[in-house]
Amino acid sequence: MSRFWSPAIQSLVPYTPGEQPQVEGLIKLNTNENPYPPAPAVEAVLRNFDTERLRLYPDPECLALKQALADNAGLTHDQVFVGNGSDEVLALTFMALLRQQQPILLPETTYSFYNVYIDLFDIDARHIPLTDQYRIDLEAYSGENGGIIFANPNAPTGISIDLKTISALLERNTDSVVVVDEAYVDFGAQSATQLVNHYPNLLVVQTFSKSRSLAGMRVGFAFGHPQLIEALERVKNSFNSYPLDMLAQQTAIAALQDETYFDQSIQRIIDTRTWTTTKLESLGFEVLPSHTNFVFTRHPDIAATELMQYLRDNKILVRHFTKPGIDNHLRISIGTDEEMQALISCLKSYPGI
Ligand SMILES: *Cc1c(COP(=O)(O)O)cnc(C)c1O
Repeated sequence: MSRFWSPAIQSLVPYTPGEQPQVEGLIKLNTNENPYPPAPAVEAVLRNFDTERLRLYPDPECLALKQALADNAGLTHDQVFVGNGSDEVLALTFMALLRQQQPILLPETTYSFYNVYIDLFDIDARHIPLTDQYRIDLEAYSGENGGIIFANPNAPTGISIDLKTISALLERNTDSVVVVDEAYVDFGAQSATQLVNHYPNLLVVQTFSKSRSLAGMRVGFAFGHPQLIEALERVKNSFNSYPLDMLAQQTAIAALQDETYFDQSIQRIIDTRTWTTTKLESLGFEVLPSHTNFVFTRHPDIAATELMQYLRDNKILVRHFTKPGIDNHLRISIGTDEEMQALISCLKSYPGI
């Protein structure tokens, strides 16, 4: 703290991302990164890139990328917004659409970055508990509100909501924006993208970080009615006109166009998730049903913090949250088959498992 800081910054509690230690031989299952490389066309873009072009600014509108995303989703480019990772898209969403008179509604247990934005932008919010099955109960999201935001599948539980339930929410809630954060949707859940043409208050947010293996490039996007997109553009252009560099724009397009590679790597992760779930259950763990590239799990007899430390001592990193209600769970990203075999062997060797 310093007397030179802006007053509002003194009390800010920033988001804590999963650690990225530079240790040889570490098995990193703590930040939901994709264990497989991006599509081969991404490497081709980087190899063939003309360095001389870097003296120019990138396209501030990212039109080629927006068009590629629109084509892929069956939408038009004015229904697409892109940003420097979906974290930035979400930040702009909170600023542009969720700062209202009424409190916004969101799950009590969800992606913890939402609460950081709520504090940063001084937004009034009502947190709605998950059910005792760790599910989001959209029936409970009712009454006047300044907007609704949730992750589907939810984080860190991994549980998804079906499209019918989301449509029903949109039918009831027509006077405020509904934001669905679909960071993990490609790993087996139903996307609300197809509802964008039917509900002018729906914003769907996705990312290239997980299913497209481009966490290091920082590309996120949103689909919504052109008027919602315009609000995001207004805030973006009041803050940073060039959030996506040339390489990010081009590699994202390349990653998007290789559908065969995409489908294959998704299927590999789903298969490994199924294997991991079965193995964990056979060791006595309870595993929530996941539609993501991670599993959320607990052992009924052993504290999560103990297990996390044991794994860490054996060079395997997983994520633990201290939040009451989920503080005895571990979030374990799905890595390669070899990495998950190492995880299972390590857990098997824990005294008492
Ligand atoms: C990972 C994640 C994001 C952010 O992803 P970016 O890398 O910033 O695109 C957003 N929402 C949820 C729920 C996530 O898990």
